[in-house]
Amino acid sequence: MNKVIAIDGPAGSGKGTITKKVAEKLGLIYIDTGATYRCVALACLRNNINLEEKEKIINLTKSLNIDFDVNGKTYLNKEDVSNLIRSKEVSAIVSPISSIPEVREILVDLQRKMANNKDVIMEGRDITTVVFPNTKYKFYLDADPTERAKRRMKQNEEMGISMSFEEILDSINKRDYNDMHKSVGALKRCDDQIYIDTTKMTIDEVVQTVIENIKNMD
Ligand code: C5P
Repeated sequence: MNKVIAIDGPAGSGKGTITKKVAEKLGLIYIDTGATYRCVALACLRNNINLEEKEKIINLTKSLNIDFDVNGKTYLNKEDVSNLIRSKEVSAIVSPISSIPEVREILVDLQRKMANNKDVIMEGRDITTVVFPNTKYKFYLDADPTERAKRRMKQNEEMGISMSFEEILDSINKRDYNDMHKSVGALKRCDDQIYIDTTKMTIDEVVQTVIENIKNMD
């Protein structure tokens, strides 16, 4: 049986950074499911499809080729879009797009295929509850919204994305609300997740905690 480590949590909770490091240390394949929703959002922007045009969004999603390479780069129809999918325009529309049940169905199917017969660590919003509800390795990473906005600000600066702290905090709060109130695939806490509040922890401390828990469950 292949091993699937599922990690959920809100925007800026450190999921991406932590998951990548745990993947490196344990030799697992890293899958960022948020990137798959971001690819659909980028494709909508490029094709001038607006959020009301649900049928068009669904058909577009079906037509896309989304892939990752071993270094975690994201490819949309063979083009490296790793940086483009982090823009503020994409961040602004990704949550409503990911609320369309048919879009989720297509992408959840793709995410499961990506994990087929491989040992993976997958991060997102509904990995522990919908994509792999039967895995025994389930984590929920959290942090205060202000701390999450600070982390996102630092990441944006590193990627050359210019947004004020207030803009980032506002975008995080809106996304949290949307992500927690979706009719399908909402971000939820449940009893069998290991909950880690990372607000006052360093990256290495969180990585260590996750690895220790995985080892205890092996
Ligand atoms: O993880 P990231 O912030 O890049 O995800 C972008 C958006 O994609 C989230 O705000 C959420 O709306 C959506 N998403 C989702 N389900 C996932 C991963 C991400 O709905 N498994």
